[in-house]
Amino acid sequence: MSACRSCGACCAAYRVDFSIHELDEHGGHVPAGLALALNDTLARLRGTDHAQPRCAALTGRIGEAVGCGIYEWRPGPCHELEEGGDACARARARHGLPPLPARRLASGAGSAA
Ligand code: SF4
Ligand code: SF4
Repeated sequence: MSACRSCGACCAAYRVDFSIHELDEHGGHVPAGLALALNDTLARLRGTDHAQPRCAALTGRIGEAVGCGIYEWRPGPCHELEEGGDACARARARHGLPPLPARRLASGAGSAA
């Protein structure tokens, strides 16, 4: 099982911006209710630009057991964060978690690989 299922740190560390064309109301899959429109081209997952970010779709306790409420419909950036990569290590450090050994492309809290 992916370390992501007991982590979730990157879902509570970074702003997550993506094309508005990924929103369901524009023909994509990301539920529009979980995002804020930034401008004519970009949307942002709710909660990810707070002083202490936490994606509105993240469930559970960081560093223990977490899940992504929109795993199948999460936007592009959530597919691209590399488990064990630099951004992963920085996010984990923010939450007092040690870095992982470099592995593979992960998918955030919902990753079941
Ligand atoms: S990619 Fe890294 S920071 Fe993100 S949930 Fe997985 S282990 Fe945690
Ligand atoms: S993987 Fe899910 S919980 Fe994590 S930032 Fe993306 S949409 Fe939010």
